[in-house]
Amino acid sequence: MTGEIAGLKVRVDVPLGRLTTFKIGGPAAILVTPENEDALRRAMTPIRDSGIPVLILGNGSNLLVSDAGFPGLVLRVGSALGGVEPEGPDRLRIGAGTLWSRVLRFVMAEGWTGLEFGAGIPGTLGGAIATNAGTRGGETADSLVSIRGVGPDGEVREIARTDLPFVYRRCELPEGYVVTSTLFAAGREDPEKVAETVRGYQAERRRDQPEREPSAGCVFKNPPGTSAGKLIDQAGLKGSAVGGAIVSEVHGNFIINRGEATADDVLRLIDQVRAGVRREFGVELELEVRRWGFGD
Ligand SMILES: Cc1cc2nc3c(=O)[nH]c(=O)nc-3n(C[C@H](O)[C@H](O)[C@H](O)COP(=O)(O)OP(=O)(O)OC[C@H]3O[C@@H](n4cnc5c(N)ncnc54)[C@H](O)[C@@H]3O)c2cc1C
Repeated sequence: MTGEIAGLKVRVDVPLGRLTTFKIGGPAAILVTPENEDALRRAMTPIRDSGIPVLILGNGSNLLVSDAGFPGLVLRVGSALGGVEPEGPDRLRIGAGTLWSRVLRFVMAEGWTGLEFGAGIPGTLGGAIATNAGTRGGETADSLVSIRGVGPDGEVREIARTDLPFVYRRCELPEGYVVTSTLFAAGREDPEKVAETVRGYQAERRRDQPEREPSAGCVFKNPPGTSAGKLIDQAGLKGSAVGGAIVSEVHGNFIINRGEATADDVLRLIDQVRAGVRREFGVELELEVRRWGFGD
């Protein structure tokens, strides 16, 4: 069933696998996609008062959704809450539903520098805030000025970067707060130079990562002082498989869905990889991928 209520697209029983880059996962009981911030604002108190559990979805590129799905409401921040606009001479306002690919197209065309590091990250800017997304070139927290978003009480709040607890690949946002836009410091630069930097990062990623196969990116956080991919490789775990899930031969920290993998296959493979790395190096790998619908 699909419907539209006051600027919200509402669908029931929606397979989440289609909305994640892993292409794995059962249905969400309800999927709500706001068409603008105002519609989201008006929806927040009724949603809170309903008592239904809520999860916030961006591009689903850091998620492992359970085979049973999620028996609650998924609030999807998509391209309707997207867009890139200069705000003064040295700031860019970017909608939370904007994909990095769109941000990169903008900065290359218009000549803005400071966000090139996001080249190749397949998520939205809202997801980038929650995960402090980053690459060798930098991370989201570096040039962020502030975020704007809506709390469960329907109030719009700006939060300064200095009040956000960014750590490696994580930022604990206030409970139930949905990011609607982001403000970044950025400078002007020759568009050709920006494009050169972006293309350099993209070429590196094409060489080092299995970008085109369904995955959720790096499964494990890098332990202090080393890389999880390197430990997995050195433990001889590349190519290990459970059902339709396999550890990538290209990058040991990627698990690939060969087409028919279940969330259960992925979890069992994660356990095997963890056990192998623990046995070989005494290191306990921590998950970077977020798990949805596993009841914990
Ligand atoms: C091929 C591949 C390569 C990748 N490479 C990188 C990389 O180089 N660096 C890196 O850091 N990550 C990488 N990732 C992981 C992923 O792209 C990032 O974590 C990304 O920031 C997730 O954004 P998303 O929009 O997909 O968020 P989702 O996966 O949809 O959600 C992730 C988390 O963010 C929260 N969230 C999403 N939107 C909002 C919002 N508007 N308000 C509040 N909370 C929100 C969700 O609730 C969830 O907890 C890669 C993934 C893949 C598949």
